[in-house]
Amino acid sequence: MTNQSVVDCASGINVVAMTVALANSSLFSPVAAALPKPSFGGSGGYITLSRTNSIKNIEINNGERVKRVHAWVESMRASSPTRKSSLSDDHKTWILQHPSALGMFEEIIEASKGKQIVVFLDYDGTLSPIVEDPEKAFMTTEMREAVRDVAKYFPTAIVSGRCRAKVHNFVKLSELFYAGSHGMDIKGPANGDKRKTGNHGILFQPAKEFVPMMNNVYKILMEKTKIIPGAKVENNKFCLSVHFRRVDEKLWVDLAEKVKSVLKDYPKLRLTQGRKVLEIRPTIKWDKGKALEFLLESLGYGNSDDVLPVYIGDDRTDEDAFKVLRKRGQGLGILVSKFPKETAASYSLEEPIEVMQFLQRLVEWKRTLANIT
Ligand SMILES: [Mg+2]
Repeated sequence: MTNQSVVDCASGINVVAMTVALANSSLFSPVAAALPKPSFGGSGGYITLSRTNSIKNIEINNGERVKRVHAWVESMRASSPTRKSSLSDDHKTWILQHPSALGMFEEIIEASKGKQIVVFLDYDGTLSPIVEDPEKAFMTTEMREAVRDVAKYFPTAIVSGRCRAKVHNFVKLSELFYAGSHGMDIKGPANGDKRKTGNHGILFQPAKEFVPMMNNVYKILMEKTKIIPGAKVENNKFCLSVHFRRVDEKLWVDLAEKVKSVLKDYPKLRLTQGRKVLEIRPTIKWDKGKALEFLLESLGYGNSDDVLPVYIGDDRTDEDAFKVLRKRGQGLGILVSKFPKETAASYSLEEPIEVMQFLQRLVEWKRTLANIT
């Protein structure tokens, strides 16, 4: 993994640390650089800068710093489109490069022959819609049923930027693995079938020592941002999320400045940006991709060819997991998006309802198979 990071908290909130969206740009990380580059030309590409380069460069002078904050804000706008226009040629090209996982279902099943499918699901924007109030990002009963059914047949993990307890409270299924705080807080099913869940008692918290610091910074952020109407700070234990969803766009730069200013006293923390959210998290090299690798290892598939990980997510923090799958040369990355985005995922689904349909088809296929054999 490179030292660019990742995140997604409580909302649809994901982030590659220091990632700036720019038109027609490309990914610079070593893994991504080797990937085919979609040739869409709209407002979608991302430039990913290493923390070392980005943060130091930002501090060169005030002008650069201001530019940086504006870049975050512009990036949030670009990653949170609100309208779907008729398909442009670029969009059609993108869909050809990232076909619908529903449309390609038979091919996907073919690729899984002789392999154990392991399912990884982001939460916000993947299982639940992105809503104005992150506390109300509820998944539907039907979606919960689909996830429950999938977990009956395949080891299944929720990988979210939210703190583990919070995402568990939304999903309400004890038979799953949960990787909260962008994978920095991993726990297995309470009463899992060990044949399916391997070392189900796992509890892994690689950033545990940062908790007191995060709590301090949470208090500081609450104080600094309270004068901005609509700003919401969420403590996700190993990741602090500042939500912009309810803030007037005219105040986004002010809010971003306030969040950024907190970091100067905490060199061991870094800032990342996502869909209407800025997040502060430890500078450890850990992300959703690392969480995916850890969970596969825990399930006994660390170096196995007999596994087909399927990772579904909607945001930049999920890109780290997509890149891990590319690097391993196995599994499927599925990006949830109605719009063209530069991504390391191979397939796409437009919105959570399609994710549900995909999960339901996986279950139907497995049930049919069980009846035949
Ligand atoms: Mg998400």
